[in-house]
Amino acid sequence: MTAWSTFSGDEVAALTRGESFFAAPGERDCPACGRRRLRAYVTAPENARRPTLVSYVWCSGCDRFVGTRARHPEGLIFSDPLAALPTSERRELERSLSGFLAHLDALWDAGALPQTFTA
Ligand SMILES: [Zn+2]
Repeated sequence: MTAWSTFSGDEVAALTRGESFFAAPGERDCPACGRRRLRAYVTAPENARRPTLVSYVWCSGCDRFVGTRARHPEGLIFSDPLAALPTSERRELERSLSGFLAHLDALWDAGALPQTFTA
């Protein structure tokens, strides 16, 4: 299984520059390896106390990732290919971060990701 490592602080800062992922959800250049293999997935956990957006950003070229939580922008609606999964299956999937990232990467390769966003 892939050994994922985290982006450095400078790389994470670079991720926040440029066009919003919601406006341009396709692959973009990775701040670590420079390849156009940077991918992302966002989800809105149902059990959050206030509207929350959890983002996973990873590079399928150099196997780096970062996960962040932020406020869910008001009115932002998006598709979620994992929404159809039964809760137990989804929990099982999220139990292992490396397994979860590998699953997301496979969904991207299969064309189920990126998501579509409507603001
Ligand atoms: Zn990379």
